[in-house]
Amino acid sequence: MAEYTSDLLIMGSGPAGYTAGIYAARAGIKSLIVAGAQKGGQLIRSSEVENYPGFADPLSGFELMEKIHQQAVNLGVKIIDDEITEVDLYDQPFVCNSAGGNVFTSRSIIIATGASVKWLGLPSEQKYIGHGVSSCATCDGFFYRGKEVAVIGGGNSAVEQALYLANYVDKVYIIHRRHSFNAERIMQKRLFENRKITIFWNNVVDEVLGKENPLEVTGIKIRNVKSDRSRILEVAGVFVAIGHHPNTEMFRKYLHLDHGGYIVTKPSSTATEIEGVFAAGDVCNPYRQAIIAAGCGARAALEAIRSL
Ligand SMILES: Cc1cc2nc3c(=O)[nH]c(=O)nc-3n(C[C@H](O)[C@H](O)[C@H](O)COP(=O)(O)OP(=O)(O)OC[C@H]3O[C@@H](n4cnc5c(N)ncnc54)[C@H](O)[C@@H]3O)c2cc1C
Repeated sequence: MAEYTSDLLIMGSGPAGYTAGIYAARAGIKSLIVAGAQKGGQLIRSSEVENYPGFADPLSGFELMEKIHQQAVNLGVKIIDDEITEVDLYDQPFVCNSAGGNVFTSRSIIIATGASVKWLGLPSEQKYIGHGVSSCATCDGFFYRGKEVAVIGGGNSAVEQALYLANYVDKVYIIHRRHSFNAERIMQKRLFENRKITIFWNNVVDEVLGKENPLEVTGIKIRNVKSDRSRILEVAGVFVAIGHHPNTEMFRKYLHLDHGGYIVTKPSSTATEIEGVFAAGDVCNPYRQAIIAAGCGARAALEAIRSL
């Protein structure tokens, strides 16, 4: 247990948090990053990133975040492996407590705690995550070449994942609890025209089925919510695409969150309504792209530095 004081505390070690740390270190600000439970952020789960500028060839998300981490370390950024559990944003300096029993006092804060995948919440789903249940077609779709898979959801993400998977797999079933998609019209048109894709409207997943030793998905049990009739679809992969939720619960009582739970910042700024508190990356930006998070992190650092 220790007490840390800084001019800038950065919560999160994804692209937003690390980039903010790099800018603060180069400006000579007394800053530190609290990395959180997922050091490197969401991108470490991606097998291939090819849209982050500066890399002519694709690299894994883990490799990319390792490089950014090393760049931060080389510039002298102080990174603490801990997670903030409680914040007091009523007065400056702000005080934060952590899971590790540490106390962080800081004149300014950048919240870069990102977003998490929404899961269905079935015990059988949790059991097979990483063994046939995935949240990312671009990361794991390749492993299902020539097989049959299911995508759960009806928004842009579900439709995109289904279209992407159709390039690799023999068959994609979309399971959607309603009778229409929320996805963009053009995406829906592509989906309806794709002969590899079959849609199960008004259906929910009741169970993910699979084998033990080694854990492996063999199918899903779905149920029509209108007729209450169940059926089993034999699939090797299940892609859950029902959305993300920003990691903002801790800030709810202090900051304005939008209907999706994202932190609302001032127009064209990373500043929140509390002076000295800034937000960057997926925590306030539903675009969920690493380069956007990194750009927001840089901006938040510059705005925080100016405020000190
Ligand atoms: C599987 C997958 C593949 C992807 N592929 C791509 C891609 O190819 N290209 C692309 O541009 N984007 C991709 N993305 C999106 C990209 O990963 C995110 O947009 C980006 O990581 C957001 O960065 P961030 O720094 O805002 O948040 P995150 O990366 O979510 O990082 C959040 C950080 O906050 C920390 N944290 C959370 N709570 C606390 C707390 N209480 N205290 C301290 N720290 C905390 C976490 O440990 C983590 O380090 C992908 C995402 C996923 C899941």
